[in-house]
Amino acid sequence: MALENLPSSVRIREVGPRDGFQNEPEVIATGDKVRLVNLLAKTGLKRIEVTSFVRPDVIPQLSDAVEVLTGIDRPEGVSYSVLIPNRRGLENALELRDRFDETNFFLSASETHNRKNVNRSVEESISGLEETIPVSVEAGLRCEGVISTSFGCPYEGDVPVENVLALALRLARAGCVEVGFGDTTGMANPVQVRRFFSTVRERFKQEGLGDTELTAHFHDTRGQGLANVLAALEEGIDSFESSFGELGGCPVPPGATGNIASEDLISMLGEMGIETGVDLPKLIEVSAEVQKVLGRPLGSHVLKAGPIDWKDLSERNP
Ligand code: ZN
Repeated sequence: MALENLPSSVRIREVGPRDGFQNEPEVIATGDKVRLVNLLAKTGLKRIEVTSFVRPDVIPQLSDAVEVLTGIDRPEGVSYSVLIPNRRGLENALELRDRFDETNFFLSASETHNRKNVNRSVEESISGLEETIPVSVEAGLRCEGVISTSFGCPYEGDVPVENVLALALRLARAGCVEVGFGDTTGMANPVQVRRFFSTVRERFKQEGLGDTELTAHFHDTRGQGLANVLAALEEGIDSFESSFGELGGCPVPPGATGNIASEDLISMLGEMGIETGVDLPKLIEVSAEVQKVLGRPLGSHVLKAGPIDWKDLSERNP
């Protein structure tokens, strides 16, 4: 595989304020959330998922969606997204329409995970989204569909690519210009990831949906997150989601870590000569800040080790 086939730049969506805060055991104070999102928006990150409109009794960690959205700055060039479970969630979000730019709609590719997560069958979820997404498009919002358990389900095991593909195509036809694939419990491996994206890209092209942005959302539950990123890059994927500090545990299995760390991802890409537009030292400062808020060490490698300082190294070893 020729390295020059890798993309020269990638887009990164920071999902820590939603995926991360939602899955941490602590409820983070609204003021801290607002401050951290504002800091993230100054690091060069251009896409930030800031909160969700899931029912507050289901996810109390994000029950302050309205306060967070009204509290954060709206810097130019930074696109904020909110996670939307259904029509009701979209209606609530639309009351604050001018406070965000994108909606992320989600469902799981496997029946058991979807039922445990949203208490609906996969078909009920996708049909509901097919009615809801056009409303969001109509409101001028950019729409992303995210498919959880795309690479395996903690309850059912293997999830056939064809099932994931069918949902992805329906999301795209309903108006999603971006479809994200979540390795929700870290079951993917790099060989599987290459096959997966090769199949999905090919089919999207065949269906006349080749312009749809395909995004990889990897978890580092078993330490394979960045290896999977490389595999996706080799298949031409140039859009990723990650979480600062490696925030975001995962309820299954209990105690497992969640998303790949944004610092680790951005450090690796930078070392490979792939442009992200993110100022890594600045991002590390924000991750150190959230670590302080939580009062315990977070999983991110680069947060602990710091970025590689080549200038310093060559001075030491001329
Ligand atoms: Zn995640």
